[in-house]
Amino acid sequence: MAKYQIAVIPGDGIGPEVVNGTRQVLDAIAVRFGHEFAYTELLAGGIAIDATGEPLPAATVAAAKKSDAVLLGAVGGPQWDTLPGDKRPERALLGLRSELGLYANLRPAVLYPALAAACPLHPETAAAGIDVMIVRELTGGMYFGDRGRREGPNGPEAYDTEAYSIMEVERIARVGFEQAMLRGKRLTSVDKANVLESSRLWRETVIRISQEYPEVTLDHLYVDNATMQLIKRPSDFDVIVTTNMFGDILSDEAAMITGSIGMLASASLGKPGTPGMYEPVHGSAPDIAGQDKANPLATILSAAMLLRISLGLGTEADAVEAAVAKVLADGYRTGDIVQNVGSSSTEKRVGTREMTRLVVEAVANA
Ligand code: NAD
Repeated sequence: MAKYQIAVIPGDGIGPEVVNGTRQVLDAIAVRFGHEFAYTELLAGGIAIDATGEPLPAATVAAAKKSDAVLLGAVGGPQWDTLPGDKRPERALLGLRSELGLYANLRPAVLYPALAAACPLHPETAAAGIDVMIVRELTGGMYFGDRGRREGPNGPEAYDTEAYSIMEVERIARVGFEQAMLRGKRLTSVDKANVLESSRLWRETVIRISQEYPEVTLDHLYVDNATMQLIKRPSDFDVIVTTNMFGDILSDEAAMITGSIGMLASASLGKPGTPGMYEPVHGSAPDIAGQDKANPLATILSAAMLLRISLGLGTEADAVEAAVAKVLADGYRTGDIVQNVGSSSTEKRVGTREMTRLVVEAVANA
């Protein structure tokens, strides 16, 4: 029996509700496929501040580093909003990213057929299906480059610098190609090589790395064109790899097609062989915490990514995603989805616990 160590950080607000539900789904996977998942529950965020005075205790970092993967709920809430910046719950996220060396952010944008009505694109476009993985470089580029204010020829000015080293592009390109190998073997690299020198280096490096992945079909788009093609022909995309800033914008554009913030999963990855961190894109939703209203699917889908990417359990990940698709196809909806898709006579409104139970049942009976 294969045994895996998963560090679990429930955090604040709806975090514990969605993470506990996700553990039940992972347990159902363990039973069905004969694995053992050992969970270490760790403190981070507001709950850690209350217990230890620190948003990210050293013990949490140490245990996360020893795990095979980290599953995180969300952190933050109004009761900690008056604390100084470096003491706030959200510091825990930045701390975990830097301690675990997470330089790649993966955001899938999947339109489930059952939620097609939530897609703002043309019905024919939505009907073709959408399943795009956006791989965004997370620790380089303009958000981290040299910046400042100075006196320019036209008076005071400000500047930010886009800089990428060959090493940074090589490692994110490899994440993109590896993702393509796990999926449809197609990779689109997005840059602005017609204008930016950093993008020319990006493109030539991605082309060089492509020689390591002869099975993957690589193409390139300028970012302005990529924003248009994502709307015009989203079903043509498999994996997109891009810079920090372009990925920030493109991943939010792609997210608009999925139905609700409660459906959006993510992964952050570092060096191969080190633990990745998996979390829903949403925050701690204090307005609905403790009311059995939170949609657990974003966290459950993040756990599917954890299985596939960090544990190498692709069949098990497929089983989780198929269970989510089945429950949605059967008409079950949490309130956030109903809000975006609109009510219909066939939809069945459920809370966090019932949605979780349905996914667990679908995993067990598939
Ligand atoms: P939020 O994502 O928590 O909530 C925005 C809206 O979406 C709310 O109306 C909320 O009820 C709804 N929502 C979010 N997730 C949902 C789910 N799973 N099911 C149903 N509805 C859901 O963003 P916010 O309100 O801007 O932030 C709340 C707190 O979360 C703040 O303290 C913020 O700093 C923190 N935050 C944390 C993270 C993180 O931990 N990664 C990310 C964003 C915000």
